[in-house]
Amino acid sequence: MLTVLRLGHRHVRDARITTHVCLTARALGADNVILSGEKDDKILGSVRDIASRFGGTFKISYEKNWKKVIREFPGKKAHLTMYGMPIQKKINSIKKHKDILVIVGGEKVPWAVYEAADYNISVGNQPHSEVAALAIFLHDYFGGKELSREFAGADLNVIPQELGKKTNSRISEIR
Ligand code: SAM
Repeated sequence: MLTVLRLGHRHVRDARITTHVCLTARALGADNVILSGEKDDKILGSVRDIASRFGGTFKISYEKNWKKVIREFPGKKAHLTMYGMPIQKKINSIKKHKDILVIVGGEKVPWAVYEAADYNISVGNQPHSEVAALAIFLHDYFGGKELSREFAGADLNVIPQELGKKTNSRISEIR
């Protein structure tokens, strides 16, 4: 199980980037996302809606007490930060573990997170984005297999095209 913990969400201000963290997590192989910071039912609803239409077993939930999430997580915790150790040096060690909590921050991440993590991991040592850092982490962790993952029970599937946009929708077939 791979869980993503998104810290420090700010209502309205971070809506787009937090949504992108969730969709990236889902699309690239995470099993679930836990949002923390300010509660935002709109994000929970819209991500659940996409997840139900596009299939798979992805779950999203909210937990105010992120310390508890980290403390009680039964596996290894990898915190993504530009100050951490290079991902390319650590990914083989992280890959040995099946239960992973990937922690991504927002504006300022409390020091307690750095201390609680088993790994503080950088994706390059330049500042960029939680979405980019998460995507590269997941790609390295799953070794590319996440790109051909099946999303069972989808109402909507994209059929890849050289040119054009093609989908098959179970719903429109039924109607
Ligand atoms: N000073 C922050 C830091 O510690 O990485 C940058 C804040 S950035 C706006 C928000 C989040 O993006 C960070 O908490 C971290 O999870 C992720 N992030 C940004 N740059 C990163 C990098 N180079 N490596 C890993 N994670 C990064």
